Amino acid sequence: MELIDLTVELAHGMVRHPAPHLPPVEIVPVATHEVQKRSVQKVTFGTHVSTHIDAPLHAIPGGQTIDCVPLDTLCGPAALVRIAKPGKDQPIDRVDLEPHQRLLTTAKRVIVETGWLQQTWGRREYFTEGTYLTRDAARYLAGFKIALFGMDFPNIDSNAETKPGIPAPNHNIMLGTGMVLLENLTNLWRIPGESFELIALPLRLVGGDGCPCRAVARLNGHGGRS
Ligand SMILES: [Zn+2]
Repeated sequence: MELIDLTVELAHGMVRHPAPHLPPVEIVPVATHEVQKRSVQKVTFGTHVSTHIDAPLHAIPGGQTIDCVPLDTLCGPAALVRIAKPGKDQPIDRVDLEPHQRLLTTAKRVIVETGWLQQTWGRREYFTEGTYLTRDAARYLAGFKIALFGMDFPNIDSNAETKPGIPAPNHNIMLGTGMVLLENLTNLWRIPGESFELIALPLRLVGGDGCPCRAVARLNGHGGRS
């Protein structure tokens, strides 16, 4: 059995999405070994930073909160869909997903790898120039029985449609089905084959619209199938 960490760091001052509703990550000491003879830190972050889960509440008023997302949505067999690297600002369209229809039809958890995070993580362009889904692609995905959709890019909506005061249309379509999103995954290239066991556990944040999580792929030793 092999475990692969699919999680990017959660670090003080890390580069993050420039949207004004995402505060900076701050980790500051409130007790130190020098003074209090112990270390305790205060951590401040938005719910949508680092590798994280979007609960339906993120886009849907009254939607399911992160503490109520079932564990069997977050853990279990996942299908890995590899899409040839889209260019900067180039969306993933329905025609890019259709060749993977067999996986999409049978999988409860679907993860898309584009290579974008591996190319650009740590730089602002990861967030400002990344790929996203066309409306047709979001509607296509919403037509399957997918409980969790994950990816190695920052946003299923374009930056042009990610504005305070305006509902994010693809988030509304996909979270509106009750599915959750798993954003900013790394190390997907290390998974052989098209199937693995996913473990992605956010904090049990009561009433939360999302939360950073630790995401792990567990391979069972024969080609990543689980
Ligand atoms: Zn999010």
